[in-house]
Amino acid sequence: MEKAIVGVIAKLRREHPVAAVGLSVAGFVAPDGKTVQFAPHLAWRQAPVAARISSRTELPVTLEHDANAAALAEYVYGAAAGASVVTLVALGTGIGCGLLLDGEIYRGAHGVAPELGHLRLVPDGRQCSCGKRGCWERYCSGTALAMTALELLSRYPGRSTVLAREAAGDPGAVTGRRVAAAARDGDEIGMMAMADLARWLGEGLALVADIYDPEIVVIAGGVSESATLFLDEAREHYARVVTGTGNRPLARIRTAQLGDDAAIVGGALLAREAVTGEPGAWRGRRLRNG
Ligand SMILES: [Zn+2]
Repeated sequence: MEKAIVGVIAKLRREHPVAAVGLSVAGFVAPDGKTVQFAPHLAWRQAPVAARISSRTELPVTLEHDANAAALAEYVYGAAAGASVVTLVALGTGIGCGLLLDGEIYRGAHGVAPELGHLRLVPDGRQCSCGKRGCWERYCSGTALAMTALELLSRYPGRSTVLAREAAGDPGAVTGRRVAAAARDGDEIGMMAMADLARWLGEGLALVADIYDPEIVVIAGGVSESATLFLDEAREHYARVVTGTGNRPLARIRTAQLGDDAAIVGGALLAREAVTGEPGAWRGRRLRNG
C-alpha cells in the first residue's frame, strides 16, 4: 500500500509542483493526524503512516479520515457551503460519516467519531462486520440494498423479472448497483429494496438529528448516484419520525456535489494548510447560504 502511494506521489511530482501530501484514509486516524490506528480494510494497525510516507518522499504528509475530508470539501466547495453543523453520510459498501462544526472537523476524544454506520437500529438484526448485529449500515448501504433484494426475492418469488434471473445464476451478481439499475427499470423487487433503504435512511437520520441537530446532511457515496430513487421518500420518513416533528426545523438533506473527488479535495485542503502554516480560509467562516 505504502509503495503504491509513494509511486502515485512520484508520478504527480513529474507533472506538478508538489509541496505536501494529504492522504484521506478509510480508517481511524489518531488526533495528531500522523498515525492510522485501525483501518478495517487495510493492513494498518497503529501505523505511523505519515512518517513512513514522508521519509520516502521528503514531503510533509497529513492524514485525515476520508469521510471527514469529504465533509470538509463539501463545506468549502460543495453541497454544505457555509452551514454551521454538517453531517456527511456516505453510502457505499458501508456507511462513512463526517461531522463539521463551523468548519471544524469533529473527531471525538480519540479520533474515532462519528461512527454512525454502527449505530444499532435493529436489535438482533443482520450481522455486521464490526461484530455487532443490526447496525445502520446493514440496512442502508449498497451492500444492504443487495441483501434486502435477495431477502425479498425469496419472500416474493415471481415478483421480479430482472433481479430474479440474475440471482438464479449467482446471488453474488445482485449488487447494490444492480438493484438500483433494476429499480430504475421498474423492477418490483428493485423498487421495494429502494423503498426499504429510503425508510432506513430516514430512520437513521432521525437518530442523527437527535444527537447533532445538523443544519445540512450531505448524502454521498456510490448509492447517492441513485438519489432520485430514494431521497424524497427518505426525507418524508425522516420528517415523520424525528423527535418533535412538526415543531422543529428539519435538517436539509442534499446529495454531495463533488463525487469521488471530495475526499481528495479535502485531503489537499488540509495538506496545504499544514505546509503553509496559514489557517484555511474556511476556518471561522460562518456563512449562511440560505
Ligand atoms: Zn457494525
